[in-house]
Amino acid sequence: MQQYPDWIWHNGSIKRWQEATTHVMAHGLHYGSSVFEGIRCYETPDGPAIFRLTDHNRRLYASARIYDMALPYDLDTLNAACHEVIARNGLTRAYLRPFAWRGLGGFGLSADTPIEMSVATWFMGPYLGEAALETGIDACVSSWQRFAPNTIPAGAKAGGNYLSGQLIAREARRLGFGEGIALASTGLLSEGAGENLFLVFDGALHTTPVSAALLNGITRNTIITLARENGIEVVERDLPREYLYLCDELFMCGTAAEITPIRSVDGRQVGAGRPGPVTQRIQDLFFGLFDGRTKDTHGWLEPLKG
Ligand code: PMP
Repeated sequence: MQQYPDWIWHNGSIKRWQEATTHVMAHGLHYGSSVFEGIRCYETPDGPAIFRLTDHNRRLYASARIYDMALPYDLDTLNAACHEVIARNGLTRAYLRPFAWRGLGGFGLSADTPIEMSVATWFMGPYLGEAALETGIDACVSSWQRFAPNTIPAGAKAGGNYLSGQLIAREARRLGFGEGIALASTGLLSEGAGENLFLVFDGALHTTPVSAALLNGITRNTIITLARENGIEVVERDLPREYLYLCDELFMCGTAAEITPIRSVDGRQVGAGRPGPVTQRIQDLFFGLFDGRTKDTHGWLEPLKG
């Protein structure tokens, strides 16, 4: 049975996990009108630290703005709630889930319901499996496309978007793959079910642009920044599907997936079928932030308070 932590932040206060409830007629439950974030807290040599907390929570407000949701608590309050809920649960390595949803208050699609907010946290290891970070995963291109840009905005991290992610991820798992990769409505590469994509050609990183129906990931931004600072070229460009079969190396990234190498796509081996040198260098730079090998020159690590 799933073990839940003791405490959760809900509508302004810390509560027992079981007491954080919403009404069954909450708008968000019926229509996907919620926005959320996923953030990690790592154990570092200087103690637990939350990675890019403010950047993530700013994106939550941006997602809410896209959907005209005026969040009832401000950024400072939300940031403080994130610290508090990890500390109260006695966690050090944790995943944080701040979220907001349209609550009870009307039946119409355009109803201006009250908005509820919550921050949950729990322990979470590597999302795609413990071995995946080292050996890589087998991925497939999904039969499901990502939504066209004039249908649902991919730049908002909204609950409803994850219906697309569920179709992609569940199809991939059903067919025996570790994760699914989606094409955009243009037919060009988009991203993974819940991860951004990087391809390596001749030592340079190539990643799909925000116009390719993807979430502008904070891990993606971290990788682009670290790579450029360390002399690795990064190109953001439209990429056709067949480049998955031609690249030297391939990996996915995201808060949950961290940096997960891909060793095959659609049953075709990528490169040497194991994480290549550029992928390993990016993993070293990224995980080095948390064990002290990479200097945190951007103030991305926020020591846990409390
Ligand atoms: N794309 C999608 C669809 C995602 O859900 C995520 C995870 N939030 C990402 C990309 C990666 O974003 P981030 O690095 O900010 O976690």
